[in-house]
Amino acid sequence: MSQAAFTDSVHVRAPGKINLFLGVGERHDDGYHALATVFQAVSLYEDVIARPADDFSVEVFGVDDIGSVPLDDRNLAMRAAKLLAAAADYPGGVALEIRKSVPVAGGMGGGSADAAAALVACDALWGTGFSPSRLHDLAARLGADVPFVLHGGTAVGTGRGDQLSPALARGRFDWVLVPNDRGLSTPVVYGRLDALRDEEGALADEPSLSLDVPIPVLQALRSGDPVQLAAALENDLQPAAIYERPDLAETIARGVAAGALQGIVSGSGPTVALLCPDPEVARDVQYSLREVGYDPLHVHGPVPGARIIG
Ligand code: ATP
Repeated sequence: MSQAAFTDSVHVRAPGKINLFLGVGERHDDGYHALATVFQAVSLYEDVIARPADDFSVEVFGVDDIGSVPLDDRNLAMRAAKLLAAAADYPGGVALEIRKSVPVAGGMGGGSADAAAALVACDALWGTGFSPSRLHDLAARLGADVPFVLHGGTAVGTGRGDQLSPALARGRFDWVLVPNDRGLSTPVVYGRLDALRDEEGALADEPSLSLDVPIPVLQALRSGDPVQLAAALENDLQPAAIYERPDLAETIARGVAAGALQGIVSGSGPTVALLCPDPEVARDVQYSLREVGYDPLHVHGPVPGARIIG
């Protein structure tokens, strides 16, 4: 069943994501928040190379804060490989090399992309031959964003974000991403959201069990019109992320002043995503923000999910 003897390495590329809409329900007693989100995969990629080995190991290259990425069983790619090996009764291991481009703890699902890429890479390296739906089930056990990164494109996520349905999106959207030097912890941002809602007395008696994505968001995606989409962007976590990092509000304001249609904190932040009307304006926005000391990236979406390349 193993192809490892015949395959030197498998190279998989997986995209980072942004959330065009993120609705967050009230906290349940077990810490659960019902989510309704629209993911879009964008052209900023993680590369994972899997090579045959007797044991499991992971090396990470590419980002400044490499030290914040665990190299043991806490690494999501390592966990993905071990989960697949257990599910497939594969007796060997794998040496994983991760080349990161997605900012660490940036709200763009970099760890989730590594996990999705590791699943696809190990499945191919070991000749496991799991069906897409079986890989999806394993992905959901690794984290709420991992199934989306397997599929890519634009999709609606409900439940914890892992119950996916494709969203019709026409054309291409141009984004300028503004990463931040320091990551922001997802649990800290959710905790802040709960505290802010508590202070405002905005907590409902019964936490919502499910949420929906508003129709205007889906219509804007179908239209392919960035002006419509800009008006529909929304993130319930944004006030909490800005509370933790007040400078994010200024980043959004500067992006809009430079020509972006709208800006939004991506997921739990701190990366800011600025939607632009076309590639030319995106390049102008990127240039303007670079002039004032940011390190912006011009990307587009939607792009496909985790894929074997080379
Ligand atoms: P989340 O998916 O929780 O919203 P994020 O997208 O903001 O996270 P990630 O880059 O996925 O950010 O990393 C979140 C944390 O997960 C990091 O601080 C790190 O400790 C841990 N982690 C585990 N595996 C990885 C990995 N392969 N790459 C990056 N971080 C990882």
